Amino acid sequence: MAERKATELMERIVSLCKRRGLIYPSSEIYGGINGFWDYGPLGAELKRNVKELWWRSLVHHRDDVTGLEATIIMHPTVWKASGHVDTFTDPMSTCRHCKKLVRTDQVWELLAEQPWGQAIAKLCPGGQYQRQPLWQWARGKGIRLAPGLALICNLDAVLARLDAKAAQPGTLPQTPEQLFCELATLDPATTGQVTPCPHCGGELTPPRRFNLMFKTNVGPVESDDNVAYLRPETAQAIFVQFKNVLETSRQRVPFGIAQIGKAFRNEVTPRNFTFRSREFEQMELEFFIRPDEVVAQLAGAVARLADLNGAANLTQPQPNWGWEVWHKYWVEERIRWYESIGLPRTSLEEYWQKPEELAHYAKATVDILYKFPFGTQELEGIAARGDFDLTQHQKTSGKSMEYFDEEAKAKYVPHVIEPSAGVDRLILALICNAYTEDLAPDDKGKLEPRIVMRFHPRVAPIKVGVFPLLKNRPELVRKALAVRDLLRPHLTVFYDDAGAIGRRYRRQDEAGTPFGVTIDFDTLGEQGPELQDTVTLRDRDTMKQERVKIDELLPRLLPLIR
Ligand code: ATP
Repeated sequence: MAERKATELMERIVSLCKRRGLIYPSSEIYGGINGFWDYGPLGAELKRNVKELWWRSLVHHRDDVTGLEATIIMHPTVWKASGHVDTFTDPMSTCRHCKKLVRTDQVWELLAEQPWGQAIAKLCPGGQYQRQPLWQWARGKGIRLAPGLALICNLDAVLARLDAKAAQPGTLPQTPEQLFCELATLDPATTGQVTPCPHCGGELTPPRRFNLMFKTNVGPVESDDNVAYLRPETAQAIFVQFKNVLETSRQRVPFGIAQIGKAFRNEVTPRNFTFRSREFEQMELEFFIRPDEVVAQLAGAVARLADLNGAANLTQPQPNWGWEVWHKYWVEERIRWYESIGLPRTSLEEYWQKPEELAHYAKATVDILYKFPFGTQELEGIAARGDFDLTQHQKTSGKSMEYFDEEAKAKYVPHVIEPSAGVDRLILALICNAYTEDLAPDDKGKLEPRIVMRFHPRVAPIKVGVFPLLKNRPELVRKALAVRDLLRPHLTVFYDDAGAIGRRYRRQDEAGTPFGVTIDFDTLGEQGPELQDTVTLRDRDTMKQERVKIDELLPRLLPLIR
């Protein structure tokens, strides 16, 4: 039930995104292209705001972070050195029945989303075998939904096997997964799990590794000698340019390099709207720190997380911080930033990867997860990567990546903490978080349903709507245009004079515009001089309206959107 509600909610969100120009399928007139999305007029503004806020908070508001903008295509050896050529792979299986490709490690997740998976889970709650409803389903809807499933192809044989199991207590499936496996395979000797194809229930091939990097050729000739890759992450350019930035920026360790840009991954199964796309944008920071031995040498002792009583108030970096504290600091910093753009802490979760889940070079990784309608999933990963990347590039290129620390009078390869966020996933989280349905009065005061996008004013695509009460009164229109021109150099304004005022408010509520300014006859001084040059300022969320002097609009609004 909850799953259906979540699916319906996502459908409403996707439809609003299309209708209001937030997100469209790429190349839609040609049927779209799986895993690629375009941002419409409102989406483009939202995305620019998010990237600008990230950049400002890290690069402009700090002395210890500097920016970089590197190319998408780099020397192919970069990806050899980083390990991407050899290990940036996902396990992939093909269905022998419908021939579709699936990411083997996502089969159960996908299956739970499929109508046939959901139907069987409902017919056999908790994986408990229910003969009659299964028989009916296999003779009816199942034929269309899961044609490859053994239950459909060989109904009698599968039911006979389950009946035999039912006669021997303890051998029947106990969980939905076990039941699905039983229904999918006919071989009674099978002891291992046989996972059914999530699309049709058919048999899947054993997994093969599939490299996620998009390949291309540089230059007019297509040959193995000029193969290049579209970058699968922005981070590597930061490592590769580490020395140049160090020499030209006058930064001293600890310091960071930040970059925003496109990344490409040939995902096996793009899904959940823009959540897993094949082309997306990342906002990555590589924050270089001293190795703990150097901190110990300079500060006497290294502060570790355990010394800090649960890491209280990690807002001011200290010279004695070791990598653990820096790592936790960046986790906190990033969560504080998400809060500052309107994602409440309660909508986020920290997932500390278990030692056995860590990549071989990572000392610790925390995923910041957002509670999407389709599940709690990763928004950003913050990894303590030691000196792995710089050392790899040093080894492969033969160029030193060492830093001479004047204070410590020592040379070393800096260690790194990497907060790596996806712009598109964040945009999706902001949209899901903002989406609200409630009731609002129409022009006659009757309550009617409205969709309101409660974007934080900082990220809202349009900051203020400007409305003359009537469009056929030139003096109202003149004044409204003057207000628009006053505000426009400082914030994004949408001028709207079409239709009843309630309808215009509703349109801006759906666009997530936090403020509305209406110019009426009071503004012209028709009801007395005390109201002349005042307007109504409407708040999207409370729908409260107050009279504000035109001169006071900017001082009122600007602090709320910056
Ligand atoms: P996942 O496990 O979800 O595939 P990941 O751990 O491989 O993600 P990273 O390599 O850590 O992701 O990339 C950093 C960030 O880039 C992710 O937290 C996410 O926000 C974003 N990202 C990664 N892959 C995609 C994708 N296919 N589509 C959209 N954003 C992505």
